[in-house]
Amino acid sequence: MTTANNSNQHYKGLINRYKKYLPVKEGDKIISLSEGNTPLIKLENIPKQIGFDGSIYVKYEGLNPTGSFKDRGMTMAVTRAVNEGSVAIICASTGNTSAAAAAYAARAGIRAFVLIPEGKIAMGKLAQAMMHGATVIQIKGNFDEGMSLVKEVADHAPVTIVNSINPYRLQGQKTAAFEIIEDLREAPDYHCLPVGNAGNISAYWLGYSEFYDKKQVKNKPIMAGYQATGAAPFIHNKPIKNPETIATAIRIGNPQSWDMAVNATVESGGWFEQRTDEQILYTQKLLAQKEGIFCEPASAISLSGAIADIKSGKIKQGSNIVCTLTGHGLKDPDTAISQSTKPMKTINATLDDVKRAIIREL
Ligand SMILES: *Cc1c(COP(=O)(O)O)cnc(C)c1O
Repeated sequence: MTTANNSNQHYKGLINRYKKYLPVKEGDKIISLSEGNTPLIKLENIPKQIGFDGSIYVKYEGLNPTGSFKDRGMTMAVTRAVNEGSVAIICASTGNTSAAAAAYAARAGIRAFVLIPEGKIAMGKLAQAMMHGATVIQIKGNFDEGMSLVKEVADHAPVTIVNSINPYRLQGQKTAAFEIIEDLREAPDYHCLPVGNAGNISAYWLGYSEFYDKKQVKNKPIMAGYQATGAAPFIHNKPIKNPETIATAIRIGNPQSWDMAVNATVESGGWFEQRTDEQILYTQKLLAQKEGIFCEPASAISLSGAIADIKSGKIKQGSNIVCTLTGHGLKDPDTAISQSTKPMKTINATLDDVKRAIIREL
């Protein structure tokens, strides 16, 4: 009798699944938490509501082991670091990279150092970094300042940078495009996603292009990247000194993968657009209440942008769209609760009071 544990069917993570496309060698120790293989969910209610007759799918990356797509890059970066003898990793982070770095370092038995902007990271992400035993260093500065400090310190200390300037990160992250192609049996017409440090849009384009070049698929999507209005260097075509947005995961003014991200939009015939914090939060709630899918604010910008571009006609009726939902809504409970329009009721613990509370709502 075979059990899930010893069967070959047991999913062992994206490096194992896609090893022929990834920088791993026979005999490498793989550091994995079975990341990847996330669901591609077809939206049922929102397309009808906005009068769209094509299909919108969301790639729900919040279901990765630490709750964001960062796990895809981290399994690859930490695997390479460990096999090359590194005993410590470091990153600057708006939150999710630190959560993933902390978890994969714990799995590998190495040290993790994470630099985060003081007071500007969502509670769930901070809890993860602390729980997994990373050394959490808060800086009185933003992500971009943290990023330049990390680059400097790595020249002076024996630590491996696991931000997306580490090329292995993008190699791991490109597998999300492979999964989408395998699920849909083709590439979508449009791929919409949030852009912060710009690693992910670059990684998706790598993945789509690789499968296209290797004749695994006949088409490539148009890439659309969305930034928050207060943190939109690609819209202004220059770095932003003091980026601001409620979507803290994309509160970045000086994206490290600038050229690759621009290349992804240019080569694919795509674009960058911006959305306000209000539009982001509106869409986060729409997705939660019309489809039952809870993502974090930064993630919701992909769907917010897609809807706006459908309405403006930039995205054609009848097309297939994939939006990446980069992180889980539970990462940022404070923003979710503060946006709730239904106040909680407190009543006496009696049957009558409960009945009355329900009947009032029906
Ligand atoms: C990191 C992150 C982003 C931005 O991705 P980049 O690769 O930095 O552009 C968007 N959303 C969430 C939830 C993230 O954690």
